[in-house]
Amino acid sequence: MRLRVQACGVCHSDASTVEGAFPIAWPRVPGHEAVGVIDTIGDHVEGWTLGQRVGVGFLGGSCGHCEECRRGDLVNCRNQEFTGVHHDGGYAQSMLARASGLVSVPDSLSSEAVAPLLCAGLTTFSALRNSPARFRIVLTM
Ligand SMILES: [Zn+2]
Ligand SMILES: [Zn+2]
Repeated sequence: MRLRVQACGVCHSDASTVEGAFPIAWPRVPGHEAVGVIDTIGDHVEGWTLGQRVGVGFLGGSCGHCEECRRGDLVNCRNQEFTGVHHDGGYAQSMLARASGLVSVPDSLSSEAVAPLLCAGLTTFSALRNSPARFRIVLTM
């Protein structure tokens, strides 16, 4: 998939890539909180449409066939690439992304509002979801 990037958040991990915490083959375009519009769909890709607004985060997409994927543990896919680390990210006018790494973006949210949710927001939400604390989520969209 090729996305025409509309917004990309800035994550501390982007600084880590620049500072060498992740092994990167330079040159590399950072940015793993990207929102954009699909302008090219690869062969054999289903479920996405041209012009659809989507997001891509740090986990660039699972392979669907490794042992972890077959168990439904997509986050730990052995063949997962990290956006902005293994392939170019969203600090560009366009970027390539695996279809399995995309999330659909609702029309009710701006691209600028959604971009930081794709890593920082997900990290915070996951911590709350997996904590023993009890809370109630109220969505007002
Ligand atoms: Zn996999
Ligand atoms: Zn991040």
